[in-house]
Amino acid sequence: MSDFERAATAAGTLAGPPAGDGYPSRAVVDLAAIRANVVELARRAGSAEVMAVVKADAYGHGLVPSARAALAGGATWLGVAQASEALALRAAGVGPDDARVLAWLLVPGSPFADLVAADVDVSLAASWAVDEVVAAARTTGRTARVHVEVETGLGRGGVVPADLDGLLAALRSAEAEGALRVVGVWSHLALADVPGDPVNDLQRRSFDEAVARVERAGCVLEVRHLANSAATVTAPGLHYDLVRPGIAVYGLSPVPELASAHDLGLVPAMTLEARLALVKPVAAGQGVSYGHLYTTERATRLGVVPLGYGDGIPRHASGGSAGPGGPLLVGTGDGARLLRVAGRVCMDQVVVDLGPDASERAGDVVRLFGPDAAGPTAQDWADAAGTISYEITTRLGARVPRVHVGAPTGGTDPA
Ligand SMILES: *Cc1c(COP(=O)(O)O)cnc(C)c1O
Repeated sequence: MSDFERAATAAGTLAGPPAGDGYPSRAVVDLAAIRANVVELARRAGSAEVMAVVKADAYGHGLVPSARAALAGGATWLGVAQASEALALRAAGVGPDDARVLAWLLVPGSPFADLVAADVDVSLAASWAVDEVVAAARTTGRTARVHVEVETGLGRGGVVPADLDGLLAALRSAEAEGALRVVGVWSHLALADVPGDPVNDLQRRSFDEAVARVERAGCVLEVRHLANSAATVTAPGLHYDLVRPGIAVYGLSPVPELASAHDLGLVPAMTLEARLALVKPVAAGQGVSYGHLYTTERATRLGVVPLGYGDGIPRHASGGSAGPGGPLLVGTGDGARLLRVAGRVCMDQVVVDLGPDASERAGDVVRLFGPDAAGPTAQDWADAAGTISYEITTRLGARVPRVHVGAPTGGTDPA
């Protein structure tokens, strides 16, 4: 661990770097924020359990440390898309006593036997998957736990109502031979971020019908689940037995048009920062970066920030004639200024117009986003790029090191 990391860890947050520690960029992930967000989500979930969704490297925050922080906050389940993600959790020591794990996006040939052996619940929506789960149960000598995904209106995954009886027949015969147990029924919402939309109610009714059909077929369900982050915070009537928040776990608002993270009692967990690689004077009328989308209006000082689309910074957050670029916080304390990317986002770097009186020097830290409600936030970057905050943190590239702070032990988690 570097001195800077030790200092940041001791402080539990970013305290400001000592000189001589030369990282170009990094994402500081506050595990205490993740833990606190899950405490808040569990409170809102009432009697429903919380499945923290940690797919896609925990939305870019780091799979294993984020999962452990979510469990410390009261999540009892972890949700992932792919088999490899579920197996990585188990391999890192997140055991069956620590968390139930559900993987919901499997394909023919997925390692079903490994999943069943690792005590991972699997989702399915078609009879080919029943065959694979039965084969996995025979190979491992274990009884698999299955969640049936039902189509209720999203038009994506899930078995359609017309195919449900056929699927249930195959599942019941597999249950009879002891190969599997159907423990869950679930679906996913199309418009949870628009709570008043009638599609939500149609999906709820379609879900209730599917649950009733599965139960009439004789399955004894443990959990019914439908709610993502947006429904967890806006629609208690959709909580059922288990809620599946993702983005809210990381402290970002699932309904930014209706409420900010701060309004919802959530704390953004990720701070993205970089060190200026160069500061230099230029004359008025200097075109900046590829295509000269931005031209200096006066003699000024430009700063070069070593983060670009190769690191996941969206090129759509370029700044110039087409619109304001992504925001950056430059300086600290009373001298802090909220500036914007000047010109095109490049593969490795962006440029910021620091102004004629800037005192910043190479090595000084600039913040692209962080937890402060005053900004800049990942949501501000999403707005600048015409996307959602999910994409901002999830796309962050492997080149940007994640530094985990605020772990329960007070140390960084090496995983
Ligand atoms: C990603 C995902 C979630 C979490 O969604 P958020 O909007 O991030 O809360 C929940 N359920 C399923 C099936 C998902 O794919």
